[in-house]
Amino acid sequence: MQFDDDARLDTSQVQDQRGGSGGGPSGKMLGGGIAGLLAIVVGLVFGISPNQLGLSGGDDTSAGTPAVNAELARTCSTGRDANAVDECRIVAVVNSVQAYWTGEFSRRGATYRPAPTVFFDSPVRTGCGVADPRTGPFYCPADRKVYIDLGFFRTLQTQFGAKGGPFAESYVVAHEYGHHVQNLTGVLSAAQDGRSGANSKSVRVELQADCYAGLWAKNATRTLNPVTGSPLVTAVTDDDIARGLDAAAAVGDDTIQSRAQGRVSPDSWTHGSAAQRQQWFTTGLQTGDLAACDTFG
Ligand SMILES: [Zn+2]
Repeated sequence: MQFDDDARLDTSQVQDQRGGSGGGPSGKMLGGGIAGLLAIVVGLVFGISPNQLGLSGGDDTSAGTPAVNAELARTCSTGRDANAVDECRIVAVVNSVQAYWTGEFSRRGATYRPAPTVFFDSPVRTGCGVADPRTGPFYCPADRKVYIDLGFFRTLQTQFGAKGGPFAESYVVAHEYGHHVQNLTGVLSAAQDGRSGANSKSVRVELQADCYAGLWAKNATRTLNPVTGSPLVTAVTDDDIARGLDAAAAVGDDTIQSRAQGRVSPDSWTHGSAAQRQQWFTTGLQTGDLAACDTFG
């Protein structure tokens, strides 16, 4: 994927809390040792929040320290930076995804409320409790923020066997913002009944977020940067799409289960199978139509 070299990036949409400035780890780390952590990774891959895992509630966390965000702003100022530097590319994707949803809401007479993405690399206090980087990326409905440890993108390849690449990472970001949209539309709270299984609301929520990621992918090159008035994303190639689909399959519940336990148990699915995840990402991608993403129908 390619970004407009001259576009301005909006780093105010990202709170950089890397460098150990997160919530204190003492006594509030995720428990359970290695086995527990692995279970949590599986449970939360692209998940919604650590709520269901019994994490104690925490207060909304303050923004990244100004000095740290200033450094991000210096590093990531243009689309040229997004084409060259990994963390800047994530900033650009956050900008593009939110610009897309701002337009989509506006066309429907609604107002999109932006949500920041928090970069973190050590335990961080969130509105949903203290999260360890090993939980993987997630969206916290309570504080309306997306949390991403950029190291997860390496894990996506080493542990989940995805091919990776810029667009695989973009898919993850767009999926998490899909949960934010669901939070704004009320789908998220209506669907959280704590159940699992191939036809559960949890799976339908996740598949809808995949479909929403496909919507963005379809519309990315047509989404105008509010500052420049031209598209921030200038190219999404077939290889990009293939890598997005590959990532969707790599985090399918059946893929993860067969790797972790050598068998597949649909009753405990929370995110959907590889085929389902690819199917709904594709639905969003091919139609570009919000109405087509009715995974509850
Ligand atoms: Zn999710």
